[in-house]
Amino acid sequence: MRMPIEPFRIKVVEPIRFTTREERQQLLRAARYNVFRLRSEDVLIDLLTDSGTAAMSDLQWAALLRGDEAYAGARSYYRFEEAVRQLTGYRHIFPVHQGRAAEHLLFAVLGGPGKLIPSNTHFDTTRANIEHTGAQAIDLPIPEALNPVHPHPFKGNMNVEALEELIRSVGPERIPVCLMTLTNNTLGGHPVSLENLRQVRQLLQRYGIPLFLDACRFAENAYLIKLREQSQAHRSVADIARELFSLADGCFLSAKKDGLANIGGFLALNDDELAERIRHLLILYEGFPTYGGLAGRDLEAIAQGLQEVLQEEYLRYRIGSVAYLAELLRQAQIPIIEPPGGHAVFIDAAAFAPQIPPEHFPGQAIVCGLYVQAGVRAVEVGSLMMGGSNSRGALLELVRLALPRRVYTQTHLEYVAEALAELYAERSHLRGFRLVRAAPFLRHFTAELEPL
Ligand SMILES: *Cc1c(COP(=O)(O)O)cnc(C)c1O
Repeated sequence: MRMPIEPFRIKVVEPIRFTTREERQQLLRAARYNVFRLRSEDVLIDLLTDSGTAAMSDLQWAALLRGDEAYAGARSYYRFEEAVRQLTGYRHIFPVHQGRAAEHLLFAVLGGPGKLIPSNTHFDTTRANIEHTGAQAIDLPIPEALNPVHPHPFKGNMNVEALEELIRSVGPERIPVCLMTLTNNTLGGHPVSLENLRQVRQLLQRYGIPLFLDACRFAENAYLIKLREQSQAHRSVADIARELFSLADGCFLSAKKDGLANIGGFLALNDDELAERIRHLLILYEGFPTYGGLAGRDLEAIAQGLQEVLQEEYLRYRIGSVAYLAELLRQAQIPIIEPPGGHAVFIDAAAFAPQIPPEHFPGQAIVCGLYVQAGVRAVEVGSLMMGGSNSRGALLELVRLALPRRVYTQTHLEYVAEALAELYAERSHLRGFRLVRAAPFLRHFTAELEPL
């Protein structure tokens, strides 16, 4: 049998609410054409993000009851620490309330004016946390990553030559750390190859620059390595994942992604001195180092989730769902970013709505159109998300359809594809938007817009 099925059965259900097209038009107007401002009960299928939206397993729910809520030295912390150490091998392990808290702590210590922090591509919160310290966040993707239809299997890779050129031109002392984002969320959820990570590691070692992983989707990246990197096909995903971590000096991770949890994250690293400075800041901003802003039960859910996420039947279903949605969109001729990656299908908004220039947010026009059409919530990843006074602007104009983990069935995905096909047939009617109000950074969360 080759038919991939959901590797679980459903024990609890949550009804979703149907609305009419007229209701949705009104709701969207009231939300100022920003889908972050909609109430989730007004959304039928929510593909806004795969962050914190996973369905927990029966074992995770059971683990919540084991939560030890002691302020210091809780049993749940040690279970969490053991799970993270088994996976990553790092010496110091700090829980945090979510990924960006780890970014804040790390860059508060390593960032600052005059510093440059390169990455294959920074995620929006990572970039914002780096720039907030006065340092510069630099994206060095491979050129193929900027070509939406290029079939390169590892478009998440770092441009190693460009990295070396940067190090030579500014000097290694201005680069306190280099990041690799696994998978690359900003440009299409593409994986990084093991070969590329090894090359980056070698180069950085020559110059004495530490390497950290932004490892939110480490399991999806490891599975895509197994599928796409021929020399790795024989290995277990867990084994590949452990090698990924072993190539870096530390990592931060939002457990809301491949932790299969609804909240939480961690920062883990080997350097004793750096760990000492981070521990002090952690106490100041997050909480005592054995809970880091989380409840003991959250630590239990993450410890369990980190084990489940590496199960290969789960990953086959997970990556298979993304590939299936991508195939349905391809059949409808909708331009998508190829090849599809780990957690989402990305639509090439510039090709979908070429009549709308970047400054009028073609991705946002598609997002709003899709909501009105079918009650489906997606998100713009383009000039609205990546623009703003503090940023470098968007490299691509995209719409992301992010799949929450273990939440939607094949039928839900078919419904989404049908809605998009209908919208695509009427794409010439799509109009752009104008910004009415925007914050100086991470503006997409709260911005207000007006149709042109
Ligand atoms: C989600 C995410 C983060 C930030 O994590 P939060 O838990 O949302 O704060 C950082 N990097 C990447 C690649 C992400 O996807």
